[in-house]
Amino acid sequence: MRPIPSFATFFLVTIMSSNSYAQKIVIAHRGASGYLPEHTLEAKAMAYAQGAHYIEQDLVMTRDDNLIVLHDITLGRTTDVDEKFPGRARSDGLYYAIDFTLEEIRTLNATEAFRTENGEKVQALGQRFPLGKGSFRVPTFQEEIEMIQGLNISTGRDVGIYPEVKQPAFHRQEGKDISTRVVEVLKEYGYTSKSSKVFLQTFDYEELGLIQKEILPSVGIEVSLIMLIGNRSDYPWMLESDGMSKLAYSADGIGPSYNLVVDRASEVGDIRVTELVTQAHDAGLAVHPYTFRADPGAVPDYAGSFEELLDIHYFQANVDGLFTDFPDRVVQFLQSQ
Ligand code: CA
Repeated sequence: MRPIPSFATFFLVTIMSSNSYAQKIVIAHRGASGYLPEHTLEAKAMAYAQGAHYIEQDLVMTRDDNLIVLHDITLGRTTDVDEKFPGRARSDGLYYAIDFTLEEIRTLNATEAFRTENGEKVQALGQRFPLGKGSFRVPTFQEEIEMIQGLNISTGRDVGIYPEVKQPAFHRQEGKDISTRVVEVLKEYGYTSKSSKVFLQTFDYEELGLIQKEILPSVGIEVSLIMLIGNRSDYPWMLESDGMSKLAYSADGIGPSYNLVVDRASEVGDIRVTELVTQAHDAGLAVHPYTFRADPGAVPDYAGSFEELLDIHYFQANVDGLFTDFPDRVVQFLQSQ
């Protein structure tokens, strides 16, 4: 067989790189949360329309065993629970979703994230959707899946879901097996194999193993599993040279903080890509770091712009996909490559 001439190799590389939107994945982090309150159906519909390949759901359970899409196990940061249900906080002052029924949670207004300073509610990110404006709700997992699957029918696209089991140990301590319920709902909605458009994610390695070895087999499905890694101290062995090959027994990919992919000590002209992506790819694991934000001050100094930050991660570090609050900016970036 004749060797491929170098100009042909160059041509192939050019063709592939011109199609980056088809090669790389865009995951809408809590929806298009840069523009609308996180985890509302409106934020998810916007992310869908902006061209995200996957849309994320953080999942927690209610008192009556429903799965709701909420980032925290408490309702205080993103709803008006303190006004609607004063007196329902625990002794630590927090309003736990697991203490409320779905019917109660449906009465809450979901809002842009806020903190309370001197008795005043101040939104966490000043240039985002204004606090207290509009009318939004906390959706259930099923409501969100039905919207995404419905849009897949009406648009002819095939956008995936990216659910996260939030704090499984807390749920178990409260008497609830959240992972089993999540996996049952995946089955009900037809996500049943590794080729289904779903990645199931968690920060809890023990739970990941339980899902893979017991829960998925007992429910009778398979789905791709993602191990989230927040920092070097979560599970130090994972970041050792053989860590990814060990993790590959349980996971199909990793979702690391992007500071584990490109060292935060990087500078313009001295980008320090860590070994993590290479080690993960050598072990057969996909890499989907988080969270890429374009808000003022959110882009690290080593990147001159949000788009440069994307270029460094997608093409210098060679990640397979990434989580972003701004799916439109990431889709446009990939389409321009
Ligand atoms: Ca998440």
